[in-house]
Amino acid sequence: MDDIRLKRLVIVGGGSAGWMTAAALSSLLDSRKIQITLVESEQIGTVGVGEATIPDMINFNRMLGISEVDFMKATDATFKLGIEFANWGRKGDSYFHPFGEHGVDMQGVDFHQYWLLSHQSGSDHPIEDYSLCAAAGKANKFCLPSQNPKSVLSKLRYAYHFNATKYAKFLRFYAEKRGVTRIEGKVETVSVAPESGHIQTLRLDNGTTIEGDFFFDCTGFRSLLMRQTLGVKFEDWRHWLPCNSAQTVACEHTDILPSYTRSTAHSAGWQWRIPTQSRTGNGHVYSTDFMDDDTAHQILMQGLDGAPINEARTIRFKTGCLEKFWYKNCIGIGLSSGFLEPLESTSLYLIQMGISKFISLFPSGALQPVVVAEYNRQMRQQFDQVRDFIILHYCATERNDSPFWNYCRTMAIPDSLEHKIELFREAGRVFRYEDELFSRPSWIAVMLGQNIVPKVCDPIVATLEQAQVDHSLNSMHRAMADAAEKMPTHAAFIGQYCKA
Ligand code: FAD
Repeated sequence: MDDIRLKRLVIVGGGSAGWMTAAALSSLLDSRKIQITLVESEQIGTVGVGEATIPDMINFNRMLGISEVDFMKATDATFKLGIEFANWGRKGDSYFHPFGEHGVDMQGVDFHQYWLLSHQSGSDHPIEDYSLCAAAGKANKFCLPSQNPKSVLSKLRYAYHFNATKYAKFLRFYAEKRGVTRIEGKVETVSVAPESGHIQTLRLDNGTTIEGDFFFDCTGFRSLLMRQTLGVKFEDWRHWLPCNSAQTVACEHTDILPSYTRSTAHSAGWQWRIPTQSRTGNGHVYSTDFMDDDTAHQILMQGLDGAPINEARTIRFKTGCLEKFWYKNCIGIGLSSGFLEPLESTSLYLIQMGISKFISLFPSGALQPVVVAEYNRQMRQQFDQVRDFIILHYCATERNDSPFWNYCRTMAIPDSLEHKIELFREAGRVFRYEDELFSRPSWIAVMLGQNIVPKVCDPIVATLEQAQVDHSLNSMHRAMADAAEKMPTHAAFIGQYCKA
């Protein structure tokens, strides 16, 4: 057992991961008893992408006591009700992965089973017709959810699109106000105690030395402490998630402000469109094994809705994660610990998890192996579950129009994902394991959206009166469509909400 007291916490890196960690720790810990230092290098800079989030982000800001309006103004944020996927299952197909549930479960039976019954009897309504988030998103509408559980508006769930660089600055201000010391400089040498293998000191390019008891590696893809210093191995997932590059560019807004992210599949990857208040972020994610950079650039620029406002930038990445997230007296948080590609906007969520799980296992004095093992178990599970969900988008395709899609369609997938798909195919069953991030509606949206249709519906539902089921579904559809119709446009809502 490694006996150390956590009096000096050192965060290396000042991107979203570093400042989210600093903000969360400073909101909970007494700065007179535990010193928090963050080192960052302006010369190295941050990755500067990460504009779409999932609803858990709301909880993170709430935990910090940040007002939503302040956050939205500071980060250029807009609201996000889900993601529209175009050309994924087949070229020309489109579906919406909404936040929140589809319909309402009835008599203890999952809503989608009623939908399946009706679908099998000839109804051509896609399941997203019973989602309030999809109805509002597709109409570029928005309002905040109702607190009244009887109101259909209580079904709304949302997240944000925002400027991640501005968010890091916003959190820096928050953290410094709560006692975090920021040091500018590039870490050049990391010294490790020969016996324990613990990190002891960092030496910066300006000669400063920083000592610490516990370190957070938030150095992005460099993974300076975890991989480079401590030698923690990286598990490469490129055989399941073959994209390894992205080109990004911002463009001007159109008059409409969408309340959803758009993801359009291309011949060797996909392109995002993410609207913030002042501009639209775009990126083409692709695999250099299947497409060269020039072609990727052309496709990106052809897919813009407005005039570009900067030069496109290329980012290389490797999909996978560390074999250990906590090793010795260091935790990897953010890109230093792994990256699954941006398809379902999960990176900031995984940062949140890395922080909250550390807080829930905060060492009481000595670093207990059981605590470290539990942290690693929980984080690994999070990564594996998110990984499976992202792979689903690639493998559940009928596309055969390019070598990339031929590879994705026929690649071997993890057993855990195979099991989930087979279970759904058999009779539409989906189970959520432990505190899995993506719950039933998400799996259903993507599986149905990409043409995995169960052979039969649940036998319990099959015994119900068809006319009664159709009637319930019709009234739900009407209720969702009416509620969306009455909402203000997203642009009007933001204009009002963020008024000075
Ligand atoms: P970085 O932003 O790279 O920060 C690293 C920090 O470490 C910097 O401050 C740097 O100066 C510092 N540093 C490095 N080395 C040293 C050193 N030697 N000394 C001192 N300081 C050092 N996430 C989402 O949630 N949603 C998205 O839509 C999304 N889209 C993405 C699209 C792409 C193409 C990519 C690549 C990522 C995307 N992400 C997204 C992920 C998201 O960008 C990151 O998870 C997030 O920005 C956190 O990055 P980071 O802080 O780990 O790393």
